[in-house]
Amino acid sequence: MDERRAIVDFFQKQGILIQPDAVEFLINSGGMETCKKIFGKLTEKPFIISLWDLQKLLERKEEKRGKERIKKRKFVILRDITGNSTCGGDVKDFVCLFKNRYERLSEMVKKRQEMRNAVPIKKALKVRDEVSIIGIVRDVRKVKNGTIIELEDYDDIIPVYVPSEIDSSLINDEVIGIVGKKTNELFIAKSVVRPEIPVRRQRNFSSEEKYVLFLSDIHVGSKNFLEKEWDRLIKWLNGKNGNERQKEVAKKIEYAIISGDLVEGIGIYPGQENDLEIVDVYEQYEKLAEKLSGMPEHIKLIIQPGNHDAVRPPLPQPSFEEEVKNIFSNLNAIFVGNPCYLEIDGVIILSYHGQSIQDFASNIPGLNQNNPTKIMREMLKRRHMAPSYGGISPLAPEREDYMIIDIIPDIFVTGHVHVTAVELYRDVLLLNASAWQRQTNYQKTMNLIPDPAKAIVVNLKNLMASIMQFS
Ligand code: FE
Ligand code: ZN
Repeated sequence: MDERRAIVDFFQKQGILIQPDAVEFLINSGGMETCKKIFGKLTEKPFIISLWDLQKLLERKEEKRGKERIKKRKFVILRDITGNSTCGGDVKDFVCLFKNRYERLSEMVKKRQEMRNAVPIKKALKVRDEVSIIGIVRDVRKVKNGTIIELEDYDDIIPVYVPSEIDSSLINDEVIGIVGKKTNELFIAKSVVRPEIPVRRQRNFSSEEKYVLFLSDIHVGSKNFLEKEWDRLIKWLNGKNGNERQKEVAKKIEYAIISGDLVEGIGIYPGQENDLEIVDVYEQYEKLAEKLSGMPEHIKLIIQPGNHDAVRPPLPQPSFEEEVKNIFSNLNAIFVGNPCYLEIDGVIILSYHGQSIQDFASNIPGLNQNNPTKIMREMLKRRHMAPSYGGISPLAPEREDYMIIDIIPDIFVTGHVHVTAVELYRDVLLLNASAWQRQTNYQKTMNLIPDPAKAIVVNLKNLMASIMQFS
């Protein structure tokens, strides 16, 4: 019937018990074909196969494959809204957006072991047995000791009570599975199942040692732009600053990804006029181009917009118009949208400015914008960067949902909250790429505590990150 069943049966026939997370892993790495390959590699028949066993067996294969495909793709934009927008601004298009989201995310939820027998909500409304259902969360209401949500699928909607000890992190418009039972009026949840990402996975590495520099939130044009610190960064990149080891690293940097808020912009928050050094947005970009021109030529710049930049505010944001791009014509730069999936030497990078970090922080207890990597985990669990419509970060009515994380990245980078953070979650390297602006009065009132003037560099050969400080 489904792939999961087939995999379990395949091993069972050989007298081998396969652990659930190993099944999950196989589904995500080639399914039945990989099963057969693995079976061929077994020198003896084990009683039980764990995830670790599988990975050990596959590692050998991976080494060989690595040698075979020495020619990895150097630089590819895998997904970007730029040039692909279908957004007509029609409210009807939101129906398309949510339908697309539901279709793609419910497929992922369905693959989870607990959801293999999921039924339509219509059926769950009629039976009194324990069943699994999948839907999009509408209306989250906190009640005593729990949450009441409305869960909706293609043709029905059901009120679900989720006790706090089961889950207290439900947010609007995320797609989830629920195992539970109908009693009287309410469906009572026994567990909540999210699309999630697998615990372990084969990570991609570049064949040669090369580094990517991660920058964000430069905010040129602000009185609080840290120009002296920025100039120190440029000096280091040119080999005129730092110890021998750091100078060696600087030479090997091939790309600099800037994850949004390049300039301070105008009219972004109340009272911003008082914080502006440059009041014309084009002049802000001109000054930025000047500041970037100090970068050595061997570094390719990847420029992504954020909420302070001169592009449409709703997500996904396309890249700059020609008018702005032309200001950078002397630079070795590529312009991308927000978010954007990239592949550099086989390593998959998801770069997203991070506007919705604040939505997560204000809707899920225990989360804080000053700890963004914890929030990025929540995005990966939901396979979505900005689920909630009508929050702080606006969404555009695109027909396809560009905020879905269906490709699992090797590196996931955000900015926006001006914090420097590095964390590993389920084999995904999570980064929040600092800022080049000291705390503004507005940020003080928002309780945003920056950790600026730092640069994160990642060696693509081993995905190790290090932080350079310039203050
Ligand atoms: Fe910013
Ligand atoms: Zn921002």
